[in-house]
Amino acid sequence: MIRDIAAPLKFCRFMADGKIYNGALHGNMADLIEGDFLGEFSILRMSYPLERVKLLPPITPAKIWCVGRNYAGHAGELDHEIPKEPLIFIKATSALAGGGDPVRIPEWAGRVDYEGELAVVIGKRCRKVSEKDALSYVAGYSCFNDVTARDLQNLDGQWTRSKSFDTFAPFGPVVVLSNTMPADAALTTRLNGSAVQRDKFSNMIFSVARIISHISMFATLEPGDVIATGTPEGAGRVRPGDRVEIEIDGIGTLSNPFISDH
Ligand code: MG
Repeated sequence: MIRDIAAPLKFCRFMADGKIYNGALHGNMADLIEGDFLGEFSILRMSYPLERVKLLPPITPAKIWCVGRNYAGHAGELDHEIPKEPLIFIKATSALAGGGDPVRIPEWAGRVDYEGELAVVIGKRCRKVSEKDALSYVAGYSCFNDVTARDLQNLDGQWTRSKSFDTFAPFGPVVVLSNTMPADAALTTRLNGSAVQRDKFSNMIFSVARIISHISMFATLEPGDVIATGTPEGAGRVRPGDRVEIEIDGIGTLSNPFISDH
């Protein structure tokens, strides 16, 4: 296969033959990578066909930062005002799941919603960085599903429990290594094959650069930190037996089945 060397590398992590590897995805092949995209790495002359691997979350971040209400349509559907500055919260890293992994919904949790989001992966440590410089600290971008137990979010009055159930953070399948997303790039979420969310990242209330700058004013961002940048209009209920796919232009599709957690 001829590689498009102009396209940014799609970094992935996967299990094959009982071992965990870093890889570069192209077509239905994963080339082995020695090293890590946050440091030095080289692509080895060895590949696995995708059907023989199990994809894992592309990295295990130290922190998952999230932005609430970052598209006017979604803030409106939850009956909230447009925020004056980015609304930041944390999701537990123990909630991470890879592409294809089942998301488990306990019956007692009540209503559970999908939230398709663009994830930013930080590449270099930064603190008090300006909006103008912020994108130079980005390693790449990925897809994220900020699964939320909506009833418990309203009941608790804060969001930690509702956002942090095990498997409520599907992430991947790849990190596209690039500082910026194309100006017109968009996200589409499909529920059982039907499009339920579609919006361009240019419609975010707060840009990726603004969000990074904002967080870095109070917390040091570390290499590998993930920032889920908020969900557009159309977040909605998901039930056991459903499948949610989040497709982002230039990245790929994060697809997860939802099952009942007994
Ligand atoms: Mg969200």
